[in-house]
Amino acid sequence: MNDLEKQLHYPLGDTLPEPGTALTVAPGVKWVRMALPFALNHINLWLLRDELDGVQGWSVVDCCISHDAARAQWEQIFAEALDGLPILRVIVTHMHPDHVGLAHWLCERWQVRLWISATDYCMARIGTLGPTGFGGESAAAFFALHGLTDPDVMTQVAARSNYFPSLVPAMPGMYRRMQDGDQLSVGGRAWQCISGYGHAPEHISLYCAELGLLIGGDMMLPRISTNVSVYDQEPEANPLRQFLDSIDRFRALDAQTLTLPSHGKPFTGLYQRIEQLHAHHAERLAEVMAACAERPCSAAEVLPVLFKRALDLHQTTFAMGESIAHLHLLWYDGRLQRRLGDDGIYRFALPAA
Ligand SMILES: [Zn+2]
Repeated sequence: MNDLEKQLHYPLGDTLPEPGTALTVAPGVKWVRMALPFALNHINLWLLRDELDGVQGWSVVDCCISHDAARAQWEQIFAEALDGLPILRVIVTHMHPDHVGLAHWLCERWQVRLWISATDYCMARIGTLGPTGFGGESAAAFFALHGLTDPDVMTQVAARSNYFPSLVPAMPGMYRRMQDGDQLSVGGRAWQCISGYGHAPEHISLYCAELGLLIGGDMMLPRISTNVSVYDQEPEANPLRQFLDSIDRFRALDAQTLTLPSHGKPFTGLYQRIEQLHAHHAERLAEVMAACAERPCSAAEVLPVLFKRALDLHQTTFAMGESIAHLHLLWYDGRLQRRLGDDGIYRFALPAA
């Protein structure tokens, strides 16, 4: 546990749900944890006791990626953790593969509706289209503009066009839209939809004042900072500003709220965590400013400033997105200027005096 984590409180201690089982964390709310074959090695999913159209059952929040191990764990959950009741709907916080990957399978399996924001529904459907979706040549060209020149890395980035559909092979053909401010009635309790930006196009967190619970998705994680990246599809995006503005909206929730994050353990200390995330990014932004004050820097040149460890390919692409996100916030705030060099690379420098 790092120093910042010690400022948070984990009411369940180190207790984790065993694979294929569900752990009750509040009345009618169960925690399921599934393994992921990535550096981020698990995801938390939630089961909410529900009633829909007069039928008793459970709502699922988030799905895991499409792979056999997750399907097998889901089958075990269905058999043992649902009190013999069906799944009634599939709620997805956002379109990233670990959250939406099995939505199609779950909706088919139970003949139920997917609930998701419209933006993330559309983006995920585009993503399933394969080489015409995300990544590949377009990502490589975007990283080149930002100074990534290593030919091996570029070849691998360009070749990786099938990443999303390999984890999210399909999306349901229909969905029900969730929007900021919507109130979902789940098992007779009101859950409020809170939109968040900067991590996914339109991430929805769910807050139940009666239970004092926030299903924070990836917008409020206790240990790691949420990935905030610029992607090739929206090359001038300012996601870090969006993220920081979005987490400030959680200050309106009760201070004692128990946050159920998608990665890590349920925690209280929401306000402290908001402060920590602001401080973390303020520090990173100051480092980027200092580097750019010495000489104009591309996003690739800022990487060793932001990330002090060696990065593999997967981490490099994430890190580039994060690096550009920090530069863009400073650029939009007028603290840095962007210039396109003769070598076709964007560099960021202090504004001319
Ligand atoms: Zn995510």
